[in-house]
Amino acid sequence: MEVWERIHSGSIQTPSELPEPLIPDEDIKTVIDKYPMKINPYILSLIKEENDPIYRQFIPSLKEINDHKGKEDPLKEEEMSPAPCIIKRYPDRVVFLVSSQCASYCRFCNRKRMVGRSKIRYNDIIDSISYIRSDRSIRDVLLSGGDPLILPDRDLFNILTRLREIPHVEIIRIGTRIPCSLPQRITPELVKMLKGFHPLYINIHFNHPSEITPQSSRACNMLADAGIPLGSQSVLLRGINDDHHTIKRLMQMLLKIRVRPYYLFQADRVKGTSHFWTPLEKGIEIIKSLIGHTSGLCIPHFVVDLPGGGGKVPLIPQFLLSKDRDGLVFKNYQGKPYHYPFP
Ligand code: SF4
Repeated sequence: MEVWERIHSGSIQTPSELPEPLIPDEDIKTVIDKYPMKINPYILSLIKEENDPIYRQFIPSLKEINDHKGKEDPLKEEEMSPAPCIIKRYPDRVVFLVSSQCASYCRFCNRKRMVGRSKIRYNDIIDSISYIRSDRSIRDVLLSGGDPLILPDRDLFNILTRLREIPHVEIIRIGTRIPCSLPQRITPELVKMLKGFHPLYINIHFNHPSEITPQSSRACNMLADAGIPLGSQSVLLRGINDDHHTIKRLMQMLLKIRVRPYYLFQADRVKGTSHFWTPLEKGIEIIKSLIGHTSGLCIPHFVVDLPGGGGKVPLIPQFLLSKDRDGLVFKNYQGKPYHYPFP
């Protein structure tokens, strides 16, 4: 058994297995009957105390089953599924769900309806690849889940090989939380295998500066050394990272480990997660507080995935103040007005 498999097999799945100071006061059995709990020993080691930012992301809460605002599938992913594991929302690309398992289960997950449930069937994977082969408009495939990198190397290799055999698939992307949630999974063998499938892009889900550790830094550096462009995806979460100091520090630390900030997501309106939601204005305000105060490389796109399946829309702070006869008036990052003349 490899080191990461040993760590993963030691995951906690019931509250009574938690160290005594971290056992929630609430009876969360009914929560985990509906939404499974899994916390691997590495993630557990990052929890320093009850209610810290890692605790809140991974320890179940009764609020999940008392949520009456969210919907199981607010983005209508299941209606937009032309093949078993495929979501097609845009003209030239698809999401390909290759796993329903993850290294630990995040309580705010936007696929709470499926993660940790029954495993995805081999035949469904094969049917999905046939669908991708049959639709020549698909030039970009995003492997998602669950977490694609929780699959054994052999299964990943088979999926990537079959996708690379399809001439119209130009780009393959992988969306994963593994370099953050089980960085030991990023082994030299895995990296060597992935390197054979360029152009390959990886977007990694990090939400808080305390997730950036020597282990996650090493995992990201190994992937970057293999020439894989790394982007970040973070979710804005109430009580965890919804302030500009935390997001700024997170983005700066990501750049240091060679992960380019890409998306900051408004949390989706998924059932069981409403206690994590923030007002839309909060994200715009945070992005505004970054502009000018840190390099543009550190600033992610703040996006909302529109309920009903409308797709992602970027939300951008306004810097245009007014228009006069000669040009436009903008305010800069310090709030000072500047005139920009018409050509
Ligand atoms: S790793 Fe991603 S898919 Fe898995 S539980 Fe967390 S947010 Fe959901």
